[in-house]
Amino acid sequence: MVGWEKQVCTIKRKRNVNLEVQMSNIKIQKLTKRYGDMLALNDVSLTIESGEFLILLGPSGCGKTTLLRCIAGLETPDEGQIIIGDKVVFSSEKNIFIPPGDRNLGMVFQSYALWPHMTVRDNMKFGLDVMKMPVQQADKRLAKVLTDLGMSELRDRYPSELSGGQQQRVALGRLLAAEPAVFLMDEPLSNLDARLRMDMRVELKKFQASTGSTTVYVTHDQTEAMTMATRVVVMKNGNIQQVSPPTQLYKNPQNTFVADFIGMPRINLLSAKRPKRAGSVFTNGDIELDIGWCPDQNEIIIGARPEDLAICKATNYKSGNFAVSSVLPNGPEVIVQLIGGSTSLLARVNHDVNLQQGELMEISFDKKALNIYDAETGQLINRPES
Ligand code: ATP
Repeated sequence: MVGWEKQVCTIKRKRNVNLEVQMSNIKIQKLTKRYGDMLALNDVSLTIESGEFLILLGPSGCGKTTLLRCIAGLETPDEGQIIIGDKVVFSSEKNIFIPPGDRNLGMVFQSYALWPHMTVRDNMKFGLDVMKMPVQQADKRLAKVLTDLGMSELRDRYPSELSGGQQQRVALGRLLAAEPAVFLMDEPLSNLDARLRMDMRVELKKFQASTGSTTVYVTHDQTEAMTMATRVVVMKNGNIQQVSPPTQLYKNPQNTFVADFIGMPRINLLSAKRPKRAGSVFTNGDIELDIGWCPDQNEIIIGARPEDLAICKATNYKSGNFAVSSVLPNGPEVIVQLIGGSTSLLARVNHDVNLQQGELMEISFDKKALNIYDAETGQLINRPES
């Protein structure tokens, strides 16, 4: 499920923000949710710190929305516990289920559905009216949100007179106007075009930082996750794979699933064996690679980002050379596909490098940047401290 209908926002009153922000961390403990035989969440534990912009990321069906809906109280987990601030809102053991409206999260908008009989402005003002915010203050805030969203000109239109993307912005505006202390969002930018999406990422990030709202945000778009989150949770099949700040997620993925999922173009994952019992040299077909240290495992997977490969034109043919298979210009850079025997690699090079299909290249790796994985478990092998 993508989109709007899954969007949920919890709103707290602005006048309580300072007090409530301190209390708005969320603890998820050993949470399991099944739909019949489908295990949507498998023993998930996670602490979302107060003021954090946490993004749940993963392929379709990995359980992101289910987790968000469990926090909101829109789904009842089978096992586990959820604590918001100091309040247990769900516990299978203690038989506690606090309904969404009583979770001390203020109001819950379950869907993006706009009031059809209200204008853009009135739809956005809805939450503020419920809060009984003084008119002047509400007008000022609405004006800012309308400007930020590029909706000022459309303020008097009705939802039926708007495109899907514009409707999405109205719903977003309604949430932003209320300046929530806890903010749960599910793919809120999915209907927007690429440019507006980028602008909205900037706005959302600024908004979140300025209010200190605890934000839990679901997306399957890694650019969104990597650009906005303070921490990203990568999920697969109802399990958490890694929880890290974006840079760490990119540089040190904890397993081959995360390594492969994060990064565009994708990481090179090379299966390699150690011909001798000990040593730091591993081989993959014709490639012989000294990884610079000696893991215990004899069979590994070498993770090398495309920018961690250096290529230069080979003066004569030798074993281990790669041929340029494809050259893909991409603005300031060029993505080069290289083929050597049965191995295919991607390299990211500067745009001014002139390469022709079929040219032979020598390749080398930035050893310090490589991540080494156990071939059997797919887990990162920690290298000894240097
Ligand atoms: P997407 O990015 O496609 O929205 P997701 O990661 O948010 O995916 P969920 O919507 O949480 O995934 O679904 C997790 C799993 O639970 C999926 O296999 C989905 O088919 C299943 N599921 C979700 N809701 C229900 C439901 N109400 N009844 C049965 N199965 C469900």
